[in-house]
Amino acid sequence: MSDRYASFANSGAGRALVKRLGLPDPPRLRRYRPGDPLVPGPVLFDAAPGGRLREPVTKLLTSAGVELTDPPSTETRTADTTSADTTTGGGIRHAALVYDATGVTDSAGLRPLYDFFHAYARSVLPSGRVIVLGTPPESCAAPREATAQRALEGLTRSIGKEFGRGITAQLVYVDRTAGYAIESTLRFLLSGRSAYVSGQVVRVTDPGTGDEGDRERIDWDRPLAGKVALVTGAARGIGTAVAQVLARDGAHVVALDVPAVGDLLADVANDIRGSAVQLDLTASDAPARLADQLGDRHGRVDIVVHNAGITRDRTIARMDAGGWDSVLAVNLSSQERINDLLLYRDLIPAGGRMISVSSIAGIAGNRGQTNYATAKAGVIGLVQSMTPVLAERGITINAVAPGFIETRMTARMPIGLREAGRRLNSMAQGGLPVDVAETIAWFAAPTSAGVTGNIVRVCGQSLLGA
Ligand code: NAD
Repeated sequence: MSDRYASFANSGAGRALVKRLGLPDPPRLRRYRPGDPLVPGPVLFDAAPGGRLREPVTKLLTSAGVELTDPPSTETRTADTTSADTTTGGGIRHAALVYDATGVTDSAGLRPLYDFFHAYARSVLPSGRVIVLGTPPESCAAPREATAQRALEGLTRSIGKEFGRGITAQLVYVDRTAGYAIESTLRFLLSGRSAYVSGQVVRVTDPGTGDEGDRERIDWDRPLAGKVALVTGAARGIGTAVAQVLARDGAHVVALDVPAVGDLLADVANDIRGSAVQLDLTASDAPARLADQLGDRHGRVDIVVHNAGITRDRTIARMDAGGWDSVLAVNLSSQERINDLLLYRDLIPAGGRMISVSSIAGIAGNRGQTNYATAKAGVIGLVQSMTPVLAERGITINAVAPGFIETRMTARMPIGLREAGRRLNSMAQGGLPVDVAETIAWFAAPTSAGVTGNIVRVCGQSLLGA
């Protein structure tokens, strides 16, 4: 769906008018195109005293072809704060600022973060990236350390709201032994693949695959080669984008949707050389039929993406029971029933990836969407409760929670609500289906073994919800 206001605001005449009238100014976002470098400029990386990620991050970024610029020593920076150009970082424009805050053990230790971001805030290029690395507060034995680490959330989320110009900011909590497991996450967050992801807190655990692992052999352009991926609701919207991105990354995609959109589905599947399954997920025999097909044709399924969803909006007083039941059945129960049977039949091998599509409505709630928000909050519960169970089988599970994404679903919204959804976020625009798809592809990658139990919003840091 097209956002005419954003096109106008980015045109020659529009830009001037938007500035003069102080209207929302949606920047053009940097999105990934195959062959692009990871970042379009140098990255400034610094660490608080005692930071434990200096070595892995330096190695990982260098091996990804990133040009790292050294920060001046703290003394120079402090002495410099009176000069006019320190807030542009001494003249260098950075594609990203990365800060290792794992060494911060109390609130006084947060001061170096102020020094760093104060000095370099204005040096970040449009669509640049800010990444703060911390230690999960729940793993800190000392209350003061846990407190300081938790404080990083406020800093990062505020930077996301302050910097503007399509710049994103995230906090990544890295388990004490996880080191090199952050590679896929660092790459995703730095790249144009995370264009519409901002203000998020991501957790990376230790997948127990050793230190530097087999990094040399990773094909970052086709990380899913040889994998079989199921995508539900693939005939249009976000599901189609997910199928396309997973196929681009090398997977064989089994695209599923209801028989009523069989033609659309066949087009999607043919286009990506995948296969199509026509199935209504709410049918009582749907899990068995799906498991039979996956088992017979592929013997397994490595990546399961539960994307199919419907809305039937009404306030609860006006909602009939059918509107409640159908939304719960498609958006939540079908995911549980399919997961249970695929796991029971051992069709998801170790290294498997389960990914659910939730919604910011499942986090914030929404007027007229008690049914939908209940189902989508349930999806978050499903991910959280299944995380430890699946970890024992070497399978990860995560969810994306999209905000306002330009699809048929949002095109049907009343215009007032639609404009509010589009503008009330740090990017002043809606996201595209590909933004959700890229986030799912990051979860799906074999290199994301340490990424599990996460609920990541793809919402441009929407003002709705936490
Ligand atoms: P869409 O309506 O364009 O696509 C949903 C697809 O799911 C359709 O192709 C539909 O046929 C399929 N589907 C519905 N019921 C099914 C069933 N019983 N069996 C099999 N397939 C079924 O929606 P979309 O905007 O692409 O949304 C995709 C997912 O993202 C949904 O789960 C939705 O709730 C979620 N989401 C979307 C937005 C947004 O802004 N568009 C925001 C938050 C969450």
